[in-house]
Amino acid sequence: MRTVTLKSGDKVPVLGLGTWRMGERKAERAAEVAAIKLGLDLGIRLVDTAEMYGDGGAEEMLAEALAGRRDEIFLVSKVLPNNASRKGAIAACDRSLKRLKTDRLDLYLLHWRGAVPLAETVEAFETLRKDGKIRQWGVSNLDAGDMEELVEVPGGRNCASNQVLYQLGSRGVEWLLLERCRRDKIMVMAYSPLNSPLAQAPILRNPVLGKIAKKHGVDPAAVALAWVLRQPGVIAIPKAVRPEHVRANMKALDVKLDAEDLAALDAAFPPPKRATPLDMT
Ligand code: NAP
Repeated sequence: MRTVTLKSGDKVPVLGLGTWRMGERKAERAAEVAAIKLGLDLGIRLVDTAEMYGDGGAEEMLAEALAGRRDEIFLVSKVLPNNASRKGAIAACDRSLKRLKTDRLDLYLLHWRGAVPLAETVEAFETLRKDGKIRQWGVSNLDAGDMEELVEVPGGRNCASNQVLYQLGSRGVEWLLLERCRRDKIMVMAYSPLNSPLAQAPILRNPVLGKIAKKHGVDPAAVALAWVLRQPGVIAIPKAVRPEHVRANMKALDVKLDAEDLAALDAAFPPPKRATPLDMT
């Protein structure tokens, strides 16, 4: 699989799996574990989770799905802003490690910016990194202005990634943020690449997307993902429980969108013409 190289030299696969809305209901646990295992069997090597998802339930579910395969996986989790203080982030990370039944995270993100000063969170992240509990750290839902502030705090330049909403129906990050992150070698993780409650219309039912999908012989989701992955330095983390969805999304890696496809998608989902506040789920 194509990879993005982080500042640390770690190579991160461009397609991963999300876990939001997983680990919430016992009755769905077996299907969720099976979906993650299927993704791994098909070649997925990156999984994204958060202490928030299912109140820790998604991390517990993942411990089961990743059992015996942890070393193959680039594992990402997130700390809630309320827990992101100097001591709080360290305690939250310890809890996540316990739920995930692992001794380290490959990437630990601040889920969104809250009241705790960025400098304090970065200090905690750097402590966790030096202690070997995380390999690198990053942020989520931080706009270009927040990123400028972040690089100014001590250690802030070590930020490895920013996870943001990016999909055909939400292209605001193309105005400035993607370019800034690329300049600073900060990997962008596209969340909600297929479905977002913020999208005015579900992108997967768009007829233009449908036509391009038909041309490439794949599902609309594979085209939506291939479109996100056309951007250098960007990876996508779709979430799928249904096995046919997990399989369909893998096809994104085989889709090469041509100039005609991209022009048609630009017409159906216009790129931003001005700066807009960052969309956030
Ligand atoms: P998403 O991955 O864009 O969409 C997930 C939905 O799309 C699910 O309902 C899934 O259904 C469906 N789906 C998946 N593959 C499909 C396919 N091939 N065809 C049709 N439908 C398909 O949205 P998301 O879960 O919001 O975002 C992905 C991940 O990003 C999350 O799981 C989470 O890890 C992360 N995230 C981060 C933030 C943040 O603030 N940092 C916010 C939101 C999400 P089934 O599950 O039924 O298969």
